[in-house]
Amino acid sequence: MATDFTLTLQLRAPLALHQTRAGVQYVETLDYIPGTALRGALAEAYLAEHGTPDNTFRALFLSEQVQYGDLWPSVEGKWITLLPATARACKRHGLKHSASFRDALLDVWTNPDNKCPECAESLDRVGGYLCSLAPAEPLAPRSRLRISTAIERSAGTVAREMLFTQHTLVGQRKTQDKSDPVLFRGTVRLADPSLKDPLGTLLKAPLFLGSGRSRGLGEVEVKTWVEAPASEPLADRWRKFNAVAQRAGGDPNVRYFSLTLLSHLVLRDDLLRPVLDAITPQHFGLPDGVTWVRYPDSDRQVLFLSAVTIPGWNAALGLPKPDTVALARGSVLLGRCDADQEQDALNRLAQIEAEGVGERRNEGFGRVAVCYPIHYECWR
Ligand SMILES: [Zn+2]
Repeated sequence: MATDFTLTLQLRAPLALHQTRAGVQYVETLDYIPGTALRGALAEAYLAEHGTPDNTFRALFLSEQVQYGDLWPSVEGKWITLLPATARACKRHGLKHSASFRDALLDVWTNPDNKCPECAESLDRVGGYLCSLAPAEPLAPRSRLRISTAIERSAGTVAREMLFTQHTLVGQRKTQDKSDPVLFRGTVRLADPSLKDPLGTLLKAPLFLGSGRSRGLGEVEVKTWVEAPASEPLADRWRKFNAVAQRAGGDPNVRYFSLTLLSHLVLRDDLLRPVLDAITPQHFGLPDGVTWVRYPDSDRQVLFLSAVTIPGWNAALGLPKPDTVALARGSVLLGRCDADQEQDALNRLAQIEAEGVGERRNEGFGRVAVCYPIHYECWR
């Protein structure tokens, strides 16, 4: 049985986490720290201190014993929700019109005509994070633009026509008072709890993440490293989800559940092709008989999926990793099973939450939430 630890980082310098491969002249930053970047930084710090890879290094970074989750922006004392692909808010004003906010997953049977109650504008997809569900309170990290030039190697002077513009995270909230710090928090899952100590020692060293480290970017410090609090039990979330699904028009003889990707999901078929919109419940190892819900008036499945290309950097080799195509974090699937299959389905779903799904789970990929509360708490 794996143990989850919560890791909270505070920025000591701006952080640049590229969404795409570096080399272009205008670069946006991710608004979270991917587990793969965390793992890479820790591996580098380990090698800087110990020289060559040893058994502890292999246990921490090369085995499946440690899963480094993504670290999301967060504030002290709040439970953060990733806005899934089903989240909707005012098309014009977004979450500034917080009364417009809702989750559309359970609209399958009713298909309501949604308008913003504040300005009557229609609703549109909204992304980001919430630090409170009701009322909806967004949490957006502030970013700052940095502009720099390249240096001509031969002359040691500014290279012509080489101006680089990049966004960096600065560790503050966007909308609130600037002094309100944004921390980055996520879970590291240890299959062997005895690895907590070597990892804790490593977390005391200065850590550098992202790009521009030679120019003073990316320094972070560990604020807390503690055992994760228990989340609401799956059986309770399942019950609440189904109660709202019934109110929304679901069949009372059927059990419903959602699968919400909290991180990118890397799945490949037997021919090593990425599994994207052809994903089935059996890819999740769910029992036969579990299917995706279909819209009542068409044969279309209720899937809110998007794909993402993940670039990567192999720090040990100093080489780029091949791009990976994956299902993007925030994607949502709506599943169903017969009432007599409830227990079988729940058993497997609990395992999915505890272990993740797909490839590269030690880099934080494949984290899934079942019956994510936003789908039932924010449907109305
Ligand atoms: Zn509005």
